[in-house]
Amino acid sequence: MTLTKRLLNALEGKEVDKVPVCSITQTGIVELMDKVGVSWPEAHFDPEQMAKLAIANYELSGLEAVRVPYCLTVLSEAIGCEVNMGSKNRQPSVTTHPYTKDLEDMKMHENLLDMGRIRAVLDSIKIIRDRVGSEVPIIGGLEGPVTLASDLVSVKSVMNWSIKKSELMRKVLDFATDVTIAYANSMVIAGADAIAVADPLASPYLMNPDSFKNELQPRLQKFSSRVNSVTVLHICSDVSPILNYMADCGFEGLSVDENVGSIKKAKELIGDRARLVGNISSPFVLLPGPIEKIKEESKKALAEGVDVLSPGCGIAPTTPLSHIRAMVEARNEYYAQ
Ligand SMILES: [Zn+2]
Repeated sequence: MTLTKRLLNALEGKEVDKVPVCSITQTGIVELMDKVGVSWPEAHFDPEQMAKLAIANYELSGLEAVRVPYCLTVLSEAIGCEVNMGSKNRQPSVTTHPYTKDLEDMKMHENLLDMGRIRAVLDSIKIIRDRVGSEVPIIGGLEGPVTLASDLVSVKSVMNWSIKKSELMRKVLDFATDVTIAYANSMVIAGADAIAVADPLASPYLMNPDSFKNELQPRLQKFSSRVNSVTVLHICSDVSPILNYMADCGFEGLSVDENVGSIKKAKELIGDRARLVGNISSPFVLLPGPIEKIKEESKKALAEGVDVLSPGCGIAPTTPLSHIRAMVEARNEYYAQ
């Protein structure tokens, strides 16, 4: 079974020879940058460096997919936010919000794909496909609608509009949904096999579950039905209050972190509506280790029925390479038992 078939089958709930191990969230680590001679922030905008670092995660870490990019700011920047590109061990972050007062000037550029770093991401996907062939899956990642909307209008305006100006709130969410769909499909055309949407600002800590159901769920349903590939939805924190709604969003995979608690219970709740991806803690297990702990947690997740073994959230850039490999080794040992 090729790695592409294994991942797609796992996400679609079909038969697999073993549970795939990959990262749905960001994969860039400093140790790999040094090994292959690339670096952040260049790998955020140079397609060759972006591709090289992503492929290194497949070749040297053993992760069974190649994932780009390494941040959640590509779309935000393309639509008008200013971005601090960070450093070798710090991800880019949005520094300005262009539409804090109103949305009158907000529009999707006709040449959206030429804006900001979008072309760099698409070119890197093409480079990856050329180098790894069709047997290794490519995951294209992007920020979800709430996170993008918050970048465009600021978290303060999102909070304010949610209560007092629901028209504006709906308008920016609709816009963010349409733009994410257009960008995701451009990644699919470039060669991505799966699209991973990370929407940290849709966490129940920041958005109440009723708003998730009423405002976000229909937009995420639109996203999953319009994007021409398998899709995975990642939301950080304890998503138990919204997991039932997430399962109805039409995504093949739901990526959760360690705060969700039991994989077994989460699987029971979502049933056959979606497959579960996760949930080895990036900050508390993968980063500090030790390797035995990483292996123990990985085998526990497998025993509880996780469909894709993956870090719970973006991998911390200072995570040792051996710690990522330990997840893959744990999966191999699990099946050798
Ligand atoms: Zn997360």
